[in-house]
Amino acid sequence: MDIKKIEKFIKSRKYPLYHINQIQRAVYKNYVDEWSKATSLPLQLREELSLKIPILSFSPSKILISGKSDAVKAALKLRDDLSVETVLLKLKPGHFSTCVSVQVGCAVGCPFCATGKTGLKRNLTAEEISDQILFWKQHINREGLEGDLKNIIFMGMGEPFFNYEAVKKTIKILNNRDLFNIGQRHISVSTFGYVPKITQFAKDFPQANLAISLHSVSDEIRQKLVPLSGKFKLEKLSTAIKNYLQITNRKIFIEYVLLSGINDSAKKAKKLALWLRNAAPAKYFAVNLIPCNSVSKSFSAPSPEKVKLFQNTLLDYNINATIRKSLGRDIKGACGQLAYKPF
Ligand code: SAH
Ligand code: SF4
Repeated sequence: MDIKKIEKFIKSRKYPLYHINQIQRAVYKNYVDEWSKATSLPLQLREELSLKIPILSFSPSKILISGKSDAVKAALKLRDDLSVETVLLKLKPGHFSTCVSVQVGCAVGCPFCATGKTGLKRNLTAEEISDQILFWKQHINREGLEGDLKNIIFMGMGEPFFNYEAVKKTIKILNNRDLFNIGQRHISVSTFGYVPKITQFAKDFPQANLAISLHSVSDEIRQKLVPLSGKFKLEKLSTAIKNYLQITNRKIFIEYVLLSGINDSAKKAKKLALWLRNAAPAKYFAVNLIPCNSVSKSFSAPSPEKVKLFQNTLLDYNINATIRKSLGRDIKGACGQLAYKPF
């Protein structure tokens, strides 16, 4: 829902302006999913809204729940019939996070990522992005799930920094006390390393979390894994990291997908540690190791022993490193498994 559209509508129809606040409360505090349930509004207004302004800018076409119920994936049909996926994750009891999509497809083209294989179809609007959060809030409310949606992760389909204005607008909607009231510290944005926007993001949202998908500290290998990184070489990325830290003084999350036989040796872990320590003191980094979730035959995850060795090598160099639990693999809702084709 776009609150600006509601304001315009209320004004043009000459309804009293206090209905705007009532609508805001009904949608963002009580999570009504149909206007007929917004009983604080007069009947006529409810009926007009039902005909003219849908609460969500898409309709969910399918919902899949993982075997352990700790991940739920939804396919959302947009108004132009394209689809995106979004995931709700229960990382601890009573504490939900959502992974939202920002584009239909992605132009970066990482060969190990299902989204990258399809190319870019289009950007999502801020309304379509923020509605994913609204959709999950409604879901939690409707299903009577215990807990609340606390963290928003921009790690679904697409590259957030290639749709920067919409992402910026979404974060402002999230921060707005009258709407979602979710603070910057609860928001994380992940980029493949689009250098031109890293400093901008630091200036716009110095308290939000930044994650950079690094995957390799060799330009040659990285260019194969992240094709567009050829334009933003590691040296430039290192400078962008330094600038980011100067502005925010905040820890950066480094994502590293572990691909068997490609970037998973202990020697490569050592190189990664040294590269990071050359960019900034070790305390400024938290490395998330993501054993590859399979989307094609060409890429697979290393053995658990190899993953552990990689982690321990980083720890030996005082680099904080954790192995990411991949929730929702059984419903293809884990990192890199989201695709625009409805499942
Ligand atoms: N485009 C942004 C954000 C979306 S991708 C980015 O690349 O950072 C979110 C994360 O999922 C990235 O770190 C990406 O490298 C990771 N990922 C993609 N495919 C994956 C796969 N098959 N297995 C595990 N992680 C994957
Ligand atoms: Fe795009 Fe991120 Fe997938 Fe790469 S990993 S193709 S940047 S969504």
